[in-house]
Amino acid sequence: MRNKLLYNKLTGLYGDVLIANEGGEEEDYRICCPFCGDTRHRLYIGCKWGVFDPITSRSNEHLIYCFNEKCLNPDSGDIATVDERLERRRDFLWHVYRGLNNSVNLLPAAKKTILATEPLSWPGKVIRLDKLAAKKPNHPAVTYMQGRGFDPKQLGEEYGFVFCDKVTDQTYAPALGTILMPIYRNDVLYSWISRRIGDGFEGTARKVKKYYNCPGRPLQSVGYNLDTVLQYSTIVIVEGILDAVKTGPFATCLFTKSLNLGLKKKIVQTMQRQHGDCAVVVVMLDPYQDEKERCRGSKHHIEVVSDAFTGYIPNVLRVYLPSGCDPGSMTAAEIMQQMQKAARKARIRLNFTL
Ligand SMILES: [Zn+2]
Repeated sequence: MRNKLLYNKLTGLYGDVLIANEGGEEEDYRICCPFCGDTRHRLYIGCKWGVFDPITSRSNEHLIYCFNEKCLNPDSGDIATVDERLERRRDFLWHVYRGLNNSVNLLPAAKKTILATEPLSWPGKVIRLDKLAAKKPNHPAVTYMQGRGFDPKQLGEEYGFVFCDKVTDQTYAPALGTILMPIYRNDVLYSWISRRIGDGFEGTARKVKKYYNCPGRPLQSVGYNLDTVLQYSTIVIVEGILDAVKTGPFATCLFTKSLNLGLKKKIVQTMQRQHGDCAVVVVMLDPYQDEKERCRGSKHHIEVVSDAFTGYIPNVLRVYLPSGCDPGSMTAAEIMQQMQKAARKARIRLNFTL
């Protein structure tokens, strides 16, 4: 437990306190919310609650959330008026935080790292997406992926996507009830990324993150599906796994907008050796550029990544998708169309056959 002082105070004031994500960066104390008659411990109080943050020069008083959303949170609600909710917060502050210096007793989060050389297993009980689809065609994990234009059968059989319905290790609690996308290296499970089912979590609860990466497994130098991808003489570099899956078996991803040097080396060496003058690298990262970067006059990330291959790979093609698009939200045919259009303009021949 990271903040015994806060925990004890909450126990004294509100009785039974549950701990979520114990020892983690986001450890929370859960109490039955005194404001909305909640009996399910739906009021979450972050272990850093009230701790002064030197960067923002404020204390972390926002680390409190009642999952009966309309109860306490300033951004939503029709049960209580804004003033009422603010008063509730002040009330809460008075009862809990007064006289408590949480910084003093806050222990650092436990660092759970897994060595890259250790084999990895799934965080709990999983079922492959194709098998889930066959058993429960209306399961949210199945219908969500279908709604995004993916075929659960293909995701399961070809890409090994699974649904996680039980975690055996609490370290991986955020993976529960999510879709896990495996990353293999030399046919061994190296890591996974968890994708929550659904969209539009932004700006609701800070708890809810769309993606969660297996801790302790850096991905930038690994690439995605490289063993297969590098057999093609034309490869496509996109940003995320779902972009790669949508694009095709010749697509790998960076997991970010920048190119890791080790990954570049691996791609360049393999392509030079196996494909020589026929090698083509297509760079099709999400076109959206960070506003700050743009104002600073920084080079567009698509340019940066493609420039890194120029001189090493005979043909490098930049594809700028229409603004607001990313491969994951397009159909495979639309993606192919965009790539061919850019290729014709640049007089580069794409070859996606093995
Ligand atoms: Zn409440």
